[in-house]
Amino acid sequence: MANVSPLNFDRFDRQIRFLGKRAQKLISTTKVLMLGTGGGNSQVSIQLACMGIGELFLVDPDRWAETDRNRVFIPREFVGKRKVSTLKKLIEEYFPDVRVDGIVTKAEYLPDEIYKEADIIVVGTDTISSRIYANRKAIIYRKPALFPYASIYSEKGKLRQFFGVLQVYIPGKTPCFECWKNFDKYRLLAESLDPKRREEFRQRYNLGDELNIPVEASVSALNYIIAGAAVWEILKIITSIDKPIPLQAYNGISRSGRLMERINLKKDPNCPACSLARRLKSNSSLPSREDLIKLGEKR
Ligand SMILES: [Zn+2]
Repeated sequence: MANVSPLNFDRFDRQIRFLGKRAQKLISTTKVLMLGTGGGNSQVSIQLACMGIGELFLVDPDRWAETDRNRVFIPREFVGKRKVSTLKKLIEEYFPDVRVDGIVTKAEYLPDEIYKEADIIVVGTDTISSRIYANRKAIIYRKPALFPYASIYSEKGKLRQFFGVLQVYIPGKTPCFECWKNFDKYRLLAESLDPKRREEFRQRYNLGDELNIPVEASVSALNYIIAGAAVWEILKIITSIDKPIPLQAYNGISRSGRLMERINLKKDPNCPACSLARRLKSNSSLPSREDLIKLGEKR
């Protein structure tokens, strides 16, 4: 939990009207670990800062690119600079009552202390393997974790997918990220192989583009919807104002007119991450590179 100075209740008046002062105090003493600070998670960070979250810990290995500026509210001079340090600066300038810290690294290289100290983890990284890694850490350290995801896909000039998913993991209660088993098996395989082995696999299994990791389409309209949904779920977790939804999806090209839908998901009794059998083998709680390759081959 973060340390805070006396709260400026005027700043939070409009949310105290439905959350109450006690909830505001809880928000202002909560520490959120942001894994990835790209299009979605930078927005989650800024919204949480607006609402007076106690502390944000930002983790991202990358720098801003000009191509990020269609969806991230950053000035031009941030391009080429580290996402972590610039976002920290931006938030501190506008919201000095929010404590911001961070490390330039990948989720997989983050010291365990950082996972342990967090109250909530938001997993907005762009590889499946890093999401699996963070899922295992959330299980080990019993931390609520959110997995926001957005995907736009078009083929031959026709929009096929404009889609977002938000999974919320509550330790001991909801299915974990790996219970869902909705990974792209080729993507996971591609991530777990270096370029040379990727080429070997391509030839051995007679694959085409499946093992390429493409540059994905992205737009603020989709990112902000999922980010907003994530912030609302975080508020529920902190304040208990309502029950979190374990899995929900947004379909921007739905013909039914229902845009946000709850997806039913059960715990997988044989889940490689959260099942009892797996937890008993505590010394093998993290996937090795070989595990990831096997998962990729199976699915
Ligand atoms: Zn699981």
